[in-house]
Amino acid sequence: MLLRLDAEKCQGHNRCYALAPELFDVDEYGQSVLLVEGDVPAELHAKARLAVSNCPEYAISIVED
Ligand code: SF4
Repeated sequence: MLLRLDAEKCQGHNRCYALAPELFDVDEYGQSVLLVEGDVPAELHAKARLAVSNCPEYAISIVED
């Protein structure tokens, strides 16, 4: 699984970070930062999907499953 974060769409609600801190961090402007480069470990797939479905700006997407 590959994740993509669209920084243009992110409005900094931090839901992704709250739901999946293993995958997302927050920068000094409150914008989300993707922590995993490349393949998301299998044990984090459920959290990745949770973050995707809870981002109100549709800023997170699964590129490859
Ligand atoms: S939930 Fe979406 S809009 Fe909010 S910080 Fe995360 S990526 Fe950005």
